[in-house]
Amino acid sequence: MLDVSRALKNPGQVFPFEAEIEIAPMEVLSDPVHFVDVRAEGEYLCPGDNRISVKAEVSAQADTRCSRCLEPVRVAVRATVDAVYDRQPDPDDPDLYSFEASTIELTDAVRDALLLELPMRNLCSEDCRGLCPVCGINLNKGTCTCQEGAEVINPFSALKDYVLKDEEV
Ligand SMILES: [Zn+2]
Ligand SMILES: [Zn+2]
Repeated sequence: MLDVSRALKNPGQVFPFEAEIEIAPMEVLSDPVHFVDVRAEGEYLCPGDNRISVKAEVSAQADTRCSRCLEPVRVAVRATVDAVYDRQPDPDDPDLYSFEASTIELTDAVRDALLLELPMRNLCSEDCRGLCPVCGINLNKGTCTCQEGAEVINPFSALKDYVLKDEEV
């Protein structure tokens, strides 16, 4: 929350600010995402019309999961907020945020800016082996024989194995 009463009384005058912002955990394309250590630093001013314009640099850590092995990963995210707050924003204009009285709530604009910069794929390491598509084991931590089975190219030998196993039963 930012008290912008001085800006509203002094249109055109620039006010610097720093803020720490709490953003609730959310889901992005079915991945859990929690932005933590969110800091915004920038300035605001009233350009007239009882609006508030905010420009800020935002830094945060995003707690999410590896796109391959689903283990937790933390990635640094930086974003730029360039938002306009209006007491009665046009609902068709997605760049306008609403505010009441003389305080603005930065959370929505900061979250939107961070989401734009969040990578679609986050990996725990560049050479993450991911999960076995058959048994689901984390291949960074263990091994399985599913992939060996997948390498059988000769369908006849695979069939023979199957028949032999069947006979043993
Ligand atoms: Zn991974
Ligand atoms: Zn497996």
